[in-house]
Amino acid sequence: MSEPITLVSFLPSDKPYSCGYCKEEGSLSDGMWAHYMSVGVYQQLIDKGWRRSGRYVYKPIMDKTCCPLYTIRCEASRFQPTKSQKKVAKKVRNFLLRGSKKFGDEEPNSNDTPKEDNKDEKADTNPTKTGETSKSSQSNCDKNNKKDTDLSGDVDMDRKILGLKKAKIRRLERRLEKKGFSKDCKKLTEPKNKEKGLSDLLPSLQTATDLLNASVSQGGDEFKHKLELRLIKADQQDAQFQHYFQESFEVYKKYQMKIHNDPEGDCDERTFKRFLCNSPLKYQSSGGSNSVILGAFHQHYILDGKIIAVAVLDVLPDCVSSVYFYYDPAFSFLSLGTYSAIREIQLCVALGRKYYYMGYYIHSCHKMRYKGKYYPSELCSPTSYRWHPIEKCIPYLDQDKFTTFEKEPELMVKKKNLNMSRVRLFFAGDMLLYSEGFMETLSRKGQANLRGYFDICDSLAENMIVVVNEEEGDSDDE
Ligand SMILES: [Zn+2]
Repeated sequence: MSEPITLVSFLPSDKPYSCGYCKEEGSLSDGMWAHYMSVGVYQQLIDKGWRRSGRYVYKPIMDKTCCPLYTIRCEASRFQPTKSQKKVAKKVRNFLLRGSKKFGDEEPNSNDTPKEDNKDEKADTNPTKTGETSKSSQSNCDKNNKKDTDLSGDVDMDRKILGLKKAKIRRLERRLEKKGFSKDCKKLTEPKNKEKGLSDLLPSLQTATDLLNASVSQGGDEFKHKLELRLIKADQQDAQFQHYFQESFEVYKKYQMKIHNDPEGDCDERTFKRFLCNSPLKYQSSGGSNSVILGAFHQHYILDGKIIAVAVLDVLPDCVSSVYFYYDPAFSFLSLGTYSAIREIQLCVALGRKYYYMGYYIHSCHKMRYKGKYYPSELCSPTSYRWHPIEKCIPYLDQDKFTTFEKEPELMVKKKNLNMSRVRLFFAGDMLLYSEGFMETLSRKGQANLRGYFDICDSLAENMIVVVNEEEGDSDDE
């Protein structure tokens, strides 16, 4: 079977934007609009520091951005929950068993996200720039003199990063739609389980095939409540997805309004789809003996038959990657942010994926250090792209916000490996191979854009097709 194509438009960083972590105008990242993307290419991208939000894929400029974002992953099968993570699992179990909130010894998380940050967030009109989570993270950072051990609820605060990209993505999509891009691109389309310390607290896992479109439940006769998890494709053509769409969307709306203080008008269906339902990833079977479907999914948390939370996840060749998580604020006392991370690690094992990717680790922001608490974790070096155990990275990060984690000088510099003869371009409705001659036909700006793409994507450019659009290169960027 041939690999699905990956078609992207490169969107280089222009000027620094205001950062949600440090409040400075110093956040920088490059981006790509992914028209189509194979799961294999996306896996390669996230292993080089990229992440996606809807169809927008971005990468912080690590040595220049004010708050460097390091890709973090946890080896799922070796996951060792901390005391506080176990406490959360226990709290949820006790709630299911006894049916009261009483059991949580920690308090809910809803107040982890301060209300007053909302306006700043709205004002942030350039969400491309990854570093700028919301100002709320900032306020959280500022306040963060409290102990780092209570992780409950912090997870969703971070996942909020994506919310900020909404405006930028909306603009990009409009621009591309205007150009009739989606039409043009169509031409191209042919081409288990050890639970360690948690075993008593979580329901047992099913096999990978049972997981899709089925549910794993916790709660029996002796339980007051029943919690089920259901994994469905995040595909708007999918019947299951359509069936649960409205119910899921209602939870999203409540979450954005209550936890992030979004005005109701901002929580429209279109935004929700663009941001959490659209994906450039093509579904593909993983192959092998325990084959699973790779691509974008939603995992529903269903309490007594009602969706109370949804995890947006990518299942990729080597990992499960967390995209977003939203929940009904009425259940914030269950610390669902932390609970979902634990369940996603469990899912990762069930699906036979080795790693759980939590997105970015931001050492410069204390509040964002909680991700380092899912042991054993590793950070990706921004130059060699080798992985290093987080314990070994911390001393480097304490010294310097930008670090490569490398001792040998040659590993501290990015190597260039792009074979130009393998670069494919999509230009004026046709696919062609790159040549110097072609480069010369472009405007200065067009050339600079293409060179930037080669420079930033390096050898990954051999696996993607880049859209060259003179008009776009020439036009003034916002
Ligand atoms: Zn910053």
